[in-house]
Amino acid sequence: MKIAGIIKSSFIDYPGSAAVVIFLGGCNFSCGYCHNPEIVRGSEAEIEVPDFLEFLKKRRRFVDAVCISGGEPTLYGEELYELIARIRELGYRIKLDTNGTAPVLLRRLLEAGMVEHAAMDVKGPWEKYAQIVREGGAMVSRVQESLALLMEQAEASEGAFTFELRTTVCRELLDAADIENMARQLSGASCWYLQTFKRQGALLDEAGAYSAYSPEEMERLRAAAEAAGTVKSVRVR
Ligand code: SF4
Repeated sequence: MKIAGIIKSSFIDYPGSAAVVIFLGGCNFSCGYCHNPEIVRGSEAEIEVPDFLEFLKKRRRFVDAVCISGGEPTLYGEELYELIARIRELGYRIKLDTNGTAPVLLRRLLEAGMVEHAAMDVKGPWEKYAQIVREGGAMVSRVQESLALLMEQAEASEGAFTFELRTTVCRELLDAADIENMARQLSGASCWYLQTFKRQGALLDEAGAYSAYSPEEMERLRAAAEAAGTVKSVRVR
């Protein structure tokens, strides 16, 4: 397992809690706008798991939760399950960031109560997945399965498990019709973030042209999505 990066204290990654964030290297998608090319390619510096667990032991008094992000953490399969189990033994709550391509592992984690909060990327309307993720577009049915699982679990858990959906919105990839289409496809979800694309250093697609909508345009997209009445809360960030 490659822990490719760490944020020792974050107040924005876990709703309502201070959290440690780790980034696991590697991804099975290749979104052109991805601003973590080093992590996706797994070329960042590694932190060994035992060192990380030692760090967490000392941190428990100050931090309540651990966010596991990537890259795509679920690529690690059983190793991820074991890591989460070890972190939970130390008394932390878990947030998992995922692109939704591992519904079998996700089901195991959810049914075992190993994750309190999840954030799943929804890259675009199902029909545009291949264009946006570039590699791995055929896995869209797995993302659909994961979405259904998250909804099921959130409903069954009566508040013990929550999740959010998030979509990076680039002018070149998504337009108003796409967002309205997505609102229909995500029907029943409670929380969907439209994330304004931000250029921060190198992108995975070095040659690609990606740009952001203005704040006013993002607000119009948000309002259109909310007007569909299918997702409880649509927010821009
Ligand atoms: S933005 Fe795409 S390529 Fe980058 S980590 Fe997320 S799913 Fe992987």
